[in-house]
Amino acid sequence: MLPLSMKRFVVALCHNCGEPRVVRMPARSFMCFRCGSRNAVSKVKLIGATDDIDEATYIAKKFKMGRYNSSFFSEGLS
Ligand SMILES: [Zn+2]
Repeated sequence: MLPLSMKRFVVALCHNCGEPRVVRMPARSFMCFRCGSRNAVSKVKLIGATDDIDEATYIAKKFKMGRYNSSFFSEGLS
């Protein structure tokens, strides 16, 4: 097991669409809110882990903003 999963929350990326999602641990899988894909926590990329739900939400939000500010957002504007 990854040390990350010892935390109460992890921020995981959907394998299908890359949407960050806060997952309350211990969980083995989660459903993506954006595309509806089922993801196994052990198989997806984790971008953060924390005991604090606010921090977990912040990590997910920051990741989304960073992504949208780079390629996705500028493409969306055109
Ligand atoms: Zn997804």
